[in-house]
Amino acid sequence: MNRRLLFIVVAAIALLPMLPVTPAFWITHLNYVGLASLVVLGLVLMTGVSGLTSFGQAAFVGMGAYATAWLTTALDWSPWLALPAALGVTFIAAYALGAITLRLSGHFLSLGTLAWGLSLYYVFGNMAFLGQHDGIAGIQPLEFFGISLADGRNIYYLIWACVLLGLWGTRNLLDSRPGRAIRALRSGQDMAESFGVDTARYKTIVFVYAALLACLSGWLYAHMQRAVSPSPFGLNYGIEYLFMAVVGGASSVWGAVVGAALILTLKDQLQNVLPVIFGSNTNFELIVFGVLMILVLQYARGGVFPILAHGWQRIRGRGHERQRPAPPQAPALAQRPRPEAGAVVLEVDALRKEFGGLVAVNDVSFRLRGGEIMGLIGPNGAGKSTTFNLITGVYKPTSGSVRFMNERLDTLPAREISRLGVGRTFQHVQLLPTMTVLENVALGAHLRRKVGVVAAALHAERAIEAEILHEAAVQLERVGLGDYLYEQAGNLALGQQRILEIARALASDPVLLLLDEPAAGLRYKEKQELAAVLDQLRQEGMSILLVEHDMDFVMSLTDHIVVMDFGTKIAEGTPEEIQVHPAVLEAYLGGIDEDLDIPPGAAAPQQPSAHQGLETPATATGSSA
Ligand code: ADP
Ligand code: MG
Repeated sequence: MNRRLLFIVVAAIALLPMLPVTPAFWITHLNYVGLASLVVLGLVLMTGVSGLTSFGQAAFVGMGAYATAWLTTALDWSPWLALPAALGVTFIAAYALGAITLRLSGHFLSLGTLAWGLSLYYVFGNMAFLGQHDGIAGIQPLEFFGISLADGRNIYYLIWACVLLGLWGTRNLLDSRPGRAIRALRSGQDMAESFGVDTARYKTIVFVYAALLACLSGWLYAHMQRAVSPSPFGLNYGIEYLFMAVVGGASSVWGAVVGAALILTLKDQLQNVLPVIFGSNTNFELIVFGVLMILVLQYARGGVFPILAHGWQRIRGRGHERQRPAPPQAPALAQRPRPEAGAVVLEVDALRKEFGGLVAVNDVSFRLRGGEIMGLIGPNGAGKSTTFNLITGVYKPTSGSVRFMNERLDTLPAREISRLGVGRTFQHVQLLPTMTVLENVALGAHLRRKVGVVAAALHAERAIEAEILHEAAVQLERVGLGDYLYEQAGNLALGQQRILEIARALASDPVLLLLDEPAAGLRYKEKQELAAVLDQLRQEGMSILLVEHDMDFVMSLTDHIVVMDFGTKIAEGTPEEIQVHPAVLEAYLGGIDEDLDIPPGAAAPQQPSAHQGLETPATATGSSA
């Protein structure tokens, strides 16, 4: 959202209660919208951004409300002291619940949130000291430096200050190192783990963050309402908050406010209109919400906010398109020492992977030395990508070992392997299409600088962030994507997306780089540029393991080649040796009848030279990968 619109929104929020013509019920309504916005903001982060669906947020609102209700009435605490206590209790409860439920994934997580939402509701309703179903009444109003916030027009300012702070902090958080990790949770978990992101930890962080926002909302609610009872913290409210998040949209934190305002206003209106139409007081609005939810999911997956934002953009016209910022400048990040040229960097010994009855990798052994580019070639399905995934910890080997600079890799998870200095790209491109090219590459540098969540939410880490972004820009410049820093990654051509993956791997400062078909989809000139980059990296002491179908590319670039077929290593040697190796020719030309791309006009396949013979069928099969 741009500054002018933000200013208008803030000014409108600030002025509204001061106007004597503003009816009291508007203020009350806006207070409820603000309280809901806080909860929904957490849900946007959880459900929209991170893909963790929760039906149980209302329970955390209840936790905040009941904690302060009890502490201020039974123990006579000041509400301002009860707030940190409530946040502390919620923190512990959310952390514990998260540890249990976040292990579950998909539908099971949502079901888990239903379970805890229900059980906390019954806890509130059955505890004698919490007043059972009557709840707790007689809660004192807040007082702020002598000003009583008993009046709705006064607490309004506190509520909306909390909302704006929450929006600001959440936006800051998303635009930071932890934020990039959080944004990868929804669709790029395995990829993120390969760059050292502890996804389980970030899920817990998001979960606790959302619970704390809900708790804050509950605290404000208790002192605004001056009484609490279990019903507003039940499951139907948990579902309503989720509606708000889905309808508002997760592409921006403002979606939370839009969703809360829309649903609460609609609910208000429906509760006036529907009973008149149907002549009964049943909760018909739930049916309308259900229909609305289906419509939104069908026609506006991103929610309502993007539509509003788009409309605003059109009103302002095209002339206002922002200038692309310059690449970020900052000191360079520290680099890890490179092994000596010629020292063994990677040692794969009798590596084996079985998928059920299929032996995808059959006792393969090879070594890769410092400052060397090794090619791993073979027809489709030979087991090359599986070998990559075994080295990088995506799969656990059935037997055999992988050693990297004297460390056993085959017992480590992907993120520890990344920490040791192994960078990789994926055969099937794995990037976050709605993030910028620069941010995607910055995710690769995740382990090179530490930034905590609190520092990120307060934007107190800008110097470190600049270093990370600078590193990302340098790597993008190096691979030739310097003109695309602020482009959405999903808008790049597929070949460029592969190059982006190389920059991302380089941003992790690897000692060993594993590239799975990096030249696929590149034009001739782009391939030459890529070869030059890889050659330069080799001269700087990087070890590279390269899977590639373009034989010209492999033969001209590599020092040493291993050939696999049906999971088994069938040959190893220099490019010259491999080109004339009988087993290799057999593997590549064996299926010649169906595979060989016969150029139009050629009457019959001629016996090709070894070099061409390798190239043609490989590219033919490669395109079907
Ligand atoms: P390449 O990269 O050389 O084309 P892969 O390593 O992708 O080959 O695949 C080798 C074999 O293992 C193929 O037969 C493939 O179908 C099989 N395979 C790969 N991954 C899995 C998996 N996760 N589950 C079952 N089979 C797999
Ligand atoms: Mg493959």
